[in-house]
This record gives sequence, structure tokens and C-alpha cells, in this order.
Amino acid sequence: MSETVSDTGSPRTVNASMLRARGLRKEYGKEEGLVRAVDGVDLDVAPGETVAVMGPSGCGKSTLLHMLGGLDRPSAGEIHLAGRRVDQMGERALARLRREAVGFVFQAFHLMDELTARENVELPALLAGSTPRAARRRALGLLEQVGLVDRAKFLPSALSGGQRQRVAIARALANDPLVVLADEPTGNLDSEATLDLLRLFDSLHEAGQTLVIVTHDSRIAATADRMISMRDGAFIDETRLTGGTTGTTGTGGAAAHLGALAGLEE
Ligand code: ADP
Repeated sequence: MSETVSDTGSPRTVNASMLRARGLRKEYGKEEGLVRAVDGVDLDVAPGETVAVMGPSGCGKSTLLHMLGGLDRPSAGEIHLAGRRVDQMGERALARLRREAVGFVFQAFHLMDELTARENVELPALLAGSTPRAARRRALGLLEQVGLVDRAKFLPSALSGGQRQRVAIARALANDPLVVLADEPTGNLDSEATLDLLRLFDSLHEAGQTLVIVTHDSRIAATADRMISMRDGAFIDETRLTGGTTGTTGTGGAAAHLGALAGLEE
């Protein structure tokens, strides 16, 4: 929370974070087998901000990302997306949130093998209730944006790793998400494809997309506004890489997204 002064001059409290976590914990197993995968994380991501989370394998990065996007429920703590409480949502609202407000990008792409690139990108929009025509138009626009419109009819098996990941990013953007969460997006890619992806993330950042990227790759992390180091389930260090204004103002169209969750009730 930050205090600001409203137009009328009176102080009011605003929650300017696009994504906010407080006291986030996730435990697996019990007693001797207890694993504290995430152990008390506080996080604020401003609208339009790109945050990179780095840390050794097993330190809890994926678990954190899954909780932030409503793929997994925390053992304790709070998550707010655009001011809406995520951790207490019912299953239906949570499913809708994942579909419409969050874009996931995974290391292993997770495209549907039997669908073409265009069909993969259309799917989230169709599931969210778009007409086939609107979904197709949107998918082709996004494939154009990621430089793959000429591969629209290709199956994933006919695409390179880097191309598959670009299709996966287009799919993640299909419903104009409030936040894109990427889990080791370049983990399966060679150096050239990684640079391609880096440029794509950069252009999304420029366009005002809020992004959280878990990565081992310091080149990807270097494009972020902020780089957070994680060890044993907790944040241990944070470096600001740009002169951003975390938690205060938005960038581009991203701030306008803040009201977009209104329609996500069950
Ligand atoms: P990272 O993404 O940094 O590699 P993860 O979030 O995948 O780390 O895992 C963090 C810790 O939680 C690890 O010790 C891992 O073994 C454990 N863990 C993750 N998922 C599960 C699960 N479903 N059941 C039990 N332990 C898990």
C-alpha cells in the first residue's frame, strides 16, 4: 500500500501493485519429510514492470510462480492480482482468472501437438467465449507480433524450439492478460533462439505488459526492471536495473488493466 493525495487534496490509500504477495508459504509433506518450498515471500510487481527471479534449482521459483498465477494454492499468505484476492478464490473463479487474467509460458512450451500454431493461439480466446472469427483474427495478429504469421498452419512438430516458444508466448497473450508468468522460458533453447526470445520479451515490456520471469539466464534477467535472487524458498537479494517506479505509476496501457478483473467474479 502507498499513500497518495487524491485530486481533491485529501489523502487516500491506493494499492498500485498489479501483483502483490504477502507472507507467501508453500509446504509439501510433513514432519521429517516437510519441505518449505516457498518460505515467507513478499512481492510487489507494478503495472508494466518486468521482474526476473533467479536462483538455484529447487529454491522454490516454480512453486512461487504457480501460486502467483493461481495454478497452485499457498499453505499460507495472500496473493492479490490487480487488487483482487486470488488465494481465497473458489475453483471456478480461479479457473477463470488463470484463463483470462494470467498468461503462462513454460520451459517445455506445452503446446497441443495436434493443433496448428494458429489453433493453439486461438484456444484460450475460444475458451474465454470469443467467436471463432474474433479468436482467429486475434491469433493471427499475435502470430504476426511474434514473427510467425507465415507458420500459422504449421503443427508444433514442424517448428523449432524457439518458434514453439514464440507460439506459446502468443498463446499466453491471447486474452490480453494482466500479467505474463514465464517459467524458465529459454531453458530448452539454444543461444540464438534465446536472444530472439529476449528481444520478444523486451518488446512486450516496451508495450507495457507486466511480466514475471523465472530464469537461470542472466541475459534474460538483465532485461528486467528488477532482479530478485531466491534461496531456500525466500528472497535474499534484489537489484533494481532500471529507474522504474515500483508500486506507483503504470506504463502504457498496463495501468488501464487494473480495472479489468471486475468481470472475473464467479
Ligand atoms: P525451482 O523452480 O527453483 O527449481 P521448485 O519450486 O520446483 O524449485 O521446488 C522447490 C522445492 O519444493 C524443491 O525442494 C522441490 O523438491 C519441492 N517440491 C516442488 N513440488 C513438490 C511437490 N509437488 N511435492 C513435494 N515437493 C515438491
